[in-house]
Amino acid sequence: MVHNFSAGPSILPQEVLNEASEAIKNFDNLNLSLIEISHRSKNFVAVMDEAVALVKKLLKLPEGYSVIFLQGGASLQFTMLAQNLMKNNAGRAAYLDTGVWANKAIKEAKLFGEVEVVGSSADKNYNFIPKGYATPTNVDYFHCTSNNTIFGTQMHAFPKVEAPLVCDMSSDIFCREMDYTQFDLIYAGAQKNMGPAGATLVIVKDEILGKSGRVIPTMLDYTTHIKKESMFNTPPVFAVYVSMLTLRWLDKNGGLSWIEARNRKKADLIYNEIDRNSLFFGTAEKEDRSLMNATFLLKDEAAHKEAFDKMWKEAGISGLNGHRDVGGYRASIYNAMPVESVQVLVDVLKDFEQKHA
Ligand SMILES: *Cc1c(COP(=O)(O)O)cnc(C)c1O
Repeated sequence: MVHNFSAGPSILPQEVLNEASEAIKNFDNLNLSLIEISHRSKNFVAVMDEAVALVKKLLKLPEGYSVIFLQGGASLQFTMLAQNLMKNNAGRAAYLDTGVWANKAIKEAKLFGEVEVVGSSADKNYNFIPKGYATPTNVDYFHCTSNNTIFGTQMHAFPKVEAPLVCDMSSDIFCREMDYTQFDLIYAGAQKNMGPAGATLVIVKDEILGKSGRVIPTMLDYTTHIKKESMFNTPPVFAVYVSMLTLRWLDKNGGLSWIEARNRKKADLIYNEIDRNSLFFGTAEKEDRSLMNATFLLKDEAAHKEAFDKMWKEAGISGLNGHRDVGGYRASIYNAMPVESVQVLVDVLKDFEQKHA
């Protein structure tokens, strides 16, 4: 058995993969593949409708929010959200700088207006979430990244701002219960916590749109996709289908309260071991640690790296290498990862200490 700790694309529930494989061959007993039928057939429209309904149900979204599935990844949203929300004349937006992805978002926003970076953890290689910053009032929106996939930090509280609150939730969407109505725009590439690469989930409060006074190319205008219910052009049918299956899995098992409890159990397991183990240390500040990506380093890489890498690979662990910006190791323990796989990693860490301390 392989224990898949990949940061993205990443682990999906086995039953979802089985059902998706079946649908590739024979979808809905049509004797046709899911990926060779019209996206406008009633069978696929039902998939899209169910995916949208599940997003709304799981996040408890009231009337007034639109849910769409787009392409171009979270990276296209960096551009698209700025283009849709930043005023044409003297546009201004506030950004929280919590890492690589936040920076990429900032870079794109600067193409459309002025960006005020209200807080940054760059000075400590993004090992914490800035707090206590002033939130400007005269901005078109406030942008933050809820989970910093590379640095293993996660926002556990969000600022109260007068401007629309925009959040990149690519690597922690559906991982926990919270009030999702505090956000006005949420976006997430599917490939971390929801499905395969190729679909991007966008949730937007309708009332914030149409206010920029900007001419927006048709495909980059949220209202185009909202009006056509994600069918303005051909949607990424497979990615949407698998995302829908994952959301069904989540809903059937108990939704966000169930997954949050499971995610906390997994995170406690791995962080308790990192803190206890004399050969390793965690890189993120404890209070800002991520439920999804646990980053840690060997205290003595020169002495132990080779032996440790051999040991976890032999235990069937895959995808544990850290991002080059942090080095060391990153255990991505997304929703689909079972507690048992985290226990395998914890056992390897214990075992390694016994043999090498
Ligand atoms: C992976 C990731 C992205 C980039 O997503 P793409 O879909 O590859 O563009 C953006 N933001 C965060 C937080 C991520 O984890």
